[in-house]
Amino acid sequence: MHHMTLAEIARGLAEKKFSSEELTKTLLARIALLDPQLNSFISLTEDLALQQAKAADARRANGESGALLGAPIAHKDLFCTQGIRTSCGSKMLDNFKAPYDATVVAKLAAAGTVTLGKTNMDEFAMGSANESSYYGPVKNPWNLEHVPGGSSGGSAAAVAARLLPAATGTDTGGSIRQPAALTNLTGLKPTYGRVSRWGMIAYASSLDQGGPLARTAEDCAILLQGMAGFDPNDSTSIDEPVPDYSASLNGSLQGLRIGVPKEYFSAGLDPRIAELIHNSVKELEKLGAVIKEISLPNMQHAIPAYYVIAPAEASSNLSRFDGVRFGHRCENPKDLIDLYKRSRGEGFGPEVQRRIMVGAYALSAGYYDAYYLKAQKIRRLIKNDFMAAFKEVDIILGPTTPNPAWKLGAKNSDPVAAYLEDVYTITANLAGLPGLSMPAGFVDGLPVGVQLLAPYFQEGRLLNVAHQYQLNTDWHTRTPTGF
Ligand code: GLN
Repeated sequence: MHHMTLAEIARGLAEKKFSSEELTKTLLARIALLDPQLNSFISLTEDLALQQAKAADARRANGESGALLGAPIAHKDLFCTQGIRTSCGSKMLDNFKAPYDATVVAKLAAAGTVTLGKTNMDEFAMGSANESSYYGPVKNPWNLEHVPGGSSGGSAAAVAARLLPAATGTDTGGSIRQPAALTNLTGLKPTYGRVSRWGMIAYASSLDQGGPLARTAEDCAILLQGMAGFDPNDSTSIDEPVPDYSASLNGSLQGLRIGVPKEYFSAGLDPRIAELIHNSVKELEKLGAVIKEISLPNMQHAIPAYYVIAPAEASSNLSRFDGVRFGHRCENPKDLIDLYKRSRGEGFGPEVQRRIMVGAYALSAGYYDAYYLKAQKIRRLIKNDFMAAFKEVDIILGPTTPNPAWKLGAKNSDPVAAYLEDVYTITANLAGLPGLSMPAGFVDGLPVGVQLLAPYFQEGRLLNVAHQYQLNTDWHTRTPTGF
């Protein structure tokens, strides 16, 4: 049962081959058995899951249907879940029970999903390896000595290990696409404003976006359908109709113009990954796509710009965690300053503290123009590069990451080495564009992802291309040994 995709589960439930309650019990038992190896969950919500599964079965018995009705999922632990711990991977929020559900959580619950638990993540979504979590690192099911990617590493590891079919993630600079690539999943970061951020604990508000992690593009379409849509509670949510993502999966790729940026194939890219990317290009050519070399000339400025803007926004967003309004409070403070200092010093881990310091510095008087404003100008140049490229092509294709999953601890002493892994993903966040990563092969037994980027609100096009690719390749069906 645990090998089924969301689409297969929906068919099985509709045909009454099993109930949501049976499936939920099977998966909860599998999590209990296997997750100790992976550490992909921070909290399990067995009681809620069984209650939701029974309710979904009752709705089906009453004649209701729906692809998500009775489907087991999990939420990254930065989506607020009412009455359930929402830790954001931090000691700061270890005892925080959210008083309300995030819009994404509420929408998916209304569609009939079953929440098995809250998944592990980098602290406040800062990281690419899931090693900054207060709850310990997550292991990659493809090799337990390697990282699963981050920050949605718990969601990725759990889905890759067939503990559940799909999960939510968030992507500020790659945190859906990069762990998807490193664990052989399909992951989609929607257009900025497509999915509500209300009830998502903010890291960098102008970049954060929630989206699905699953094994197939078909399943990402199903989960995104339940997540997307306008939300008056989020002032950056965009009032655009949500298309039927499953309906467009089978469009022909004949004549589809795919742009491959020449800057993507520079010295930093593992040549074995470059070869797999070229193979995926050939595969899409066979399906009728036309390949064109393009240029994104400002790409080299993306990492420095991102690592000014994201920490700047984080330093502001995280100021609310002061031991008074929100978050961990230290014991016996001697005065107010001591309370702030020790509460924040004890509650935040080293990566979060580093980013708050960098961000506060970049925003301070005298440095604002030199760093923050300059980074915003670079952001505009990067967006302009994409706008020019999308006049010539329909999709941009390249690697999701320059390297496969690294060993746990390998980049701990050098945060910049980890930041460099984001080179292919952060530009989509800076420009607000949708992006998808899908399985493209293996290097040393570790999965590799190919990334597709599309113009604003063209999530359907990304899913269409990925689905057609997956009908003609079998990388996405490979299962890690032992799971
Ligand atoms: N690795 C990037 C960072 O650490 C992206 C994280 C994310 O997308 N949440 O900021």
